[in-house]
Amino acid sequence: MENAAVLAHGVIERIGEAEGKHTYEAQTINEKIFLSDPIKNHQDGMDQIVALLMDNQTGVIKDKSEISAIGHRVVHGAESFQQTSIIDDEVLSAIKENIPLAPLHNPANITGIEVSKAIFPAAVQVAVFDTAFHHTIPAKAHLYALPYDLYETMRIRRYGFHGTSHHYVAQQAAKLLDQPLDTLNLITIHLGNGGSITAIEKGKSVDTSMGMTPLEGLIMGTRSGNIDPAIPFFLSENTDMSFKDIDTMLNKKSGLKGICGLNDMRNILSAVEEGDSKAKTALDMYVYQIKKYIGAYYAILGKVNAIIFTAGIGEHSDVIRKLVCTGLEHFGIDMDLDKNLGKNSSAREINKTNSPVRIYVIPTDEELKIAQETWKLIK
Ligand code: ADP
Repeated sequence: MENAAVLAHGVIERIGEAEGKHTYEAQTINEKIFLSDPIKNHQDGMDQIVALLMDNQTGVIKDKSEISAIGHRVVHGAESFQQTSIIDDEVLSAIKENIPLAPLHNPANITGIEVSKAIFPAAVQVAVFDTAFHHTIPAKAHLYALPYDLYETMRIRRYGFHGTSHHYVAQQAAKLLDQPLDTLNLITIHLGNGGSITAIEKGKSVDTSMGMTPLEGLIMGTRSGNIDPAIPFFLSENTDMSFKDIDTMLNKKSGLKGICGLNDMRNILSAVEEGDSKAKTALDMYVYQIKKYIGAYYAILGKVNAIIFTAGIGEHSDVIRKLVCTGLEHFGIDMDLDKNLGKNSSAREINKTNSPVRIYVIPTDEELKIAQETWKLIK
């Protein structure tokens, strides 16, 4: 960990589907391995990972005991967890208690923890919470204007997500600025399939666009983001949709996909070039919503040192970055269009030299951040 060298890296996808997707690369092999054997469940997925990690040819460890700790990204820590924690029985049961707040994510996280405890019994299991970085958001920004007892009894409030990513890119920005993070005001814009934007004051999260769940805020690939909260009741009264149907619609069939049928930004940008008017509407809505948040967060921060683009779209789409920053020059956000175009996978500055606010593209690295947090705790 002193060098943070990556020995092996991989992704398991399509768990439970007819064809699985397992990608693996390691220092010991020259080419990436792609496997499509079915992955029955999380246990099976983890077994496949361990098989490659310990294989004579592809492996990077000889014995399971070489792994001292395993860092897990746990989506919802709610109010119980404000920092990275070693997972003992108490922590595990608290993650279980938070299932109602993250019904899609926390059960999968628990399975991951249980499976890796079974496979690596000697390793310390550590939970790094996606919500933790946002625990500094004050009441005026984290409470919803609902009857207060809903907060007291059910903990209904804004939690925010992508915290590991927002925190990581903020730390990298502080390095680029060569100033301590706790002296900086930043707006971090994480644009992947899910998207969120965070206002950071003196290094601390003071507001973020996602809420009690990851549905609130920006328009996303398949999630609606902000809508009038009366719409679900209107639909329930005037259609035969159940609340479950509406929930599925808001999470899986809305956002960019809802407007134009496409949720992958690359496809949307190609469709716009081919003259698809719905794709153009979806793109305009996407950019508009990001601008609204930048304006709002600028107003609450007063002074902004830098705005930072990260995640799939933020890192790779010069088009989206340009559209978002166009018209913000009078805020001191002045993009250098040539620097914005450059294809480069490292952290970089894309503002004009005299721009009062820096504009950075910083590749996020949640895995590294999780490893660093885990290491810091067990050291
Ligand atoms: P996740 O939120 O699942 O981690 P990512 O951060 O990988 O997702 O982001 C996925 C999104 O990034 C997709 O919408 C994809 O189209 C978009 N993306 C990746 N590369 C590009 C690119 N070159 N131009 C535009 N969008 C891109």
